[in-house]
Amino acid sequence: STLTVQLGERSYPIHIGRGLLHRAGELLKERGITQKSPLLIVSDQNVAALYLATLESNLQESGYKTVSFVVKPGETSKSIAVFEQVITAAIKGGLDRHSAVIALGGGVVGDLAGFVAASYMRGVKFVQIPTTILAHDSSVGGKVGINHPLAKNMIGALHQPELVLYDVDTLSTLPPREVSAGLAEMIKHGLIWDADFAQWCRDHAADLLALDAQALEYGLEKGCSVKAEVVSRDERENDLRAILNLGHTIGHAIEAIAGYGEFLHGEAISIGMVGSALLGVKLGADTSVVKETRDMLSSLRLPTSLPVQLNTDRLLDAMMHDKKFKEGSITFIVPRSIGRVEVVKDISVSDIRQVIEQ
Ligand code: ADP
Ligand code: ZN
Repeated sequence: STLTVQLGERSYPIHIGRGLLHRAGELLKERGITQKSPLLIVSDQNVAALYLATLESNLQESGYKTVSFVVKPGETSKSIAVFEQVITAAIKGGLDRHSAVIALGGGVVGDLAGFVAASYMRGVKFVQIPTTILAHDSSVGGKVGINHPLAKNMIGALHQPELVLYDVDTLSTLPPREVSAGLAEMIKHGLIWDADFAQWCRDHAADLLALDAQALEYGLEKGCSVKAEVVSRDERENDLRAILNLGHTIGHAIEAIAGYGEFLHGEAISIGMVGSALLGVKLGADTSVVKETRDMLSSLRLPTSLPVQLNTDRLLDAMMHDKKFKEGSITFIVPRSIGRVEVVKDISVSDIRQVIEQ
């Protein structure tokens, strides 16, 4: 299926389905990406070993010249040093203003390659080929960037892709933990916006975990369209976009204090979404919200409570260093019911403490 993301004047297609890696050349041509200028493919070692040769040969058969640059897997590749290496590869490969940069991989590769596309010669076309479930989230919204040694995602840009190719066949090799972590972000889109979709994720948890192609196609399409809806409405409804951060204030704090890599992003926000539900109940939501949220997340094999070894003082401290914290209170995205959330601007630190100690 194909979803069209409309953002202001611009729009781009997200193709979701099987066998798309074998149709990459055709789909790039359809979007008007020229064969006269070389393409740069950025990938990581794990993904490149599995899918790079297929992509390269398909593009070459369609008449494209390609250059590839493979980075180490993981967040450390979103660095200024690796960014420079990719730019060097682009220059040496003869990329010009009409070239496109292709991201073949998960969120890390997408952010890095997207930032290269945003800045090389003041911006060239960007094509995303996500190979993780989590990356459906970053395939809409246009945020790209790299880390500074002092702060994550501190250097970046907004750069929309020309097109997104989501080949669900490539998801078959994802490690089970990465599958669940990606599904956390998927069901989040249900929890903030669409109760039926959240329930659908719960009902099809087994199919999703088994990487059933049809279930993945539907879930990814729905997840991307919720995100697109929220992002495009944000221009009219101030701050609506904030609801996409459900579970993220606690989640980011967990990631930061546990040491990056200890928890996958999706696992950390899963715990964070349960925390937000507890807070929601404190603020008047029906108690069933907590039980349902826990039930939905555990059906996707995600953690739903803080591990005992995490110190709550350090966790609170990490949250206060988060940019959303202002003078003794913090903005939180809090469920009212499944599928409906509220932005609450003045949650006190003591309320948060009670919730995370619960
Ligand atoms: P995300 O932020 O989208 O979870 P990452 O770029 O951090 O993505 O990727 C997570 C891990 O999964 C990395 O080690 C990456 O190499 C690996 N990976 C990504 N896609 C696949 C895939 N389709 N098959 C196997 N491993 C993959
Ligand atoms: Zn997230």
